[in-house]
Amino acid sequence: MAKIFCVANQKGGVGKTTTTVNLCAGLAKIGQRVLMVDLDPQGNATMGSGIDKRQLTMSVYDVLIESASVAEAKVHSEPCGYDVLGANRELAGAEVELVQLERREKRLKTALAEVDAQYDFVLIDCPPSLSMLTLNGLCAANGVIVPMQCEYFALEGLTDLVNTIKQVHANLNKDLQIIGLLRVMFDPRITLQQQVSEQLKAHFGDKVFHTVIPRNVRLAEAPSYGLPGVVFDAQAKGSQAFVEFAQEMVERIRTM
Ligand code: ADP
Ligand code: MG
Repeated sequence: MAKIFCVANQKGGVGKTTTTVNLCAGLAKIGQRVLMVDLDPQGNATMGSGIDKRQLTMSVYDVLIESASVAEAKVHSEPCGYDVLGANRELAGAEVELVQLERREKRLKTALAEVDAQYDFVLIDCPPSLSMLTLNGLCAANGVIVPMQCEYFALEGLTDLVNTIKQVHANLNKDLQIIGLLRVMFDPRITLQQQVSEQLKAHFGDKVFHTVIPRNVRLAEAPSYGLPGVVFDAQAKGSQAFVEFAQEMVERIRTM
């Protein structure tokens, strides 16, 4: 049975997409069967997985409006070693269309149930908002991975997300929990980042992943080559950290 995780944080630019594609690539590298679902109409995770969003004949949009199954709409990324249920601008329209449909928050969950046996991990890249799209992600997931930068307002932003997850847990998805907080773009030379990192551990204890993702220019360069850092430059510090994180995730699901 596949474990399904949303990578979510209401803030933009915190590293959601980078985390999604590199965790997918890291998991594939250590032999896991992985599906990446792009729920952001920007399609950055699709492009960053070596799939041209403009060339997609079917996407996650078709799955949400139930004009295609996941099996029909997914494509395989050869360089990355995982499957991609891609997104493009068409997905922006789904927001409005879904509102009028039945089971509007549960459509992704229903669709993913059909491919449950084919994957070990399904990772969902969420847009930076609490939209109907994100809600579909949260309803489908067993857990949420929250990437965050160790900055001054980081904890404040987290309160909103934690409340949202509590509400979804109470009303829509009893399975849902925060699997962990992932410290990303970390620079140990910055004292403030160390302090916030310590605060995080004090507040959230075991919920803070052991792995820390450093700020690393190779991770930032990789998307312009249409690849996750893990594939683009496996030796880079950031790439190695994501493979380590993949191992931590495999460990973590053993106890779920
Ligand atoms: P989000 O999906 O939350 O909007 P992204 O993953 O797109 O965030 O990241 C925002 C920007 O930060 C991108 O330009 C990305 O390349 C860069 N970035 C993300 N993680 C790192 C990192 N560990 N080191 C350096 N740059 C990073
Ligand atoms: Mg993104």
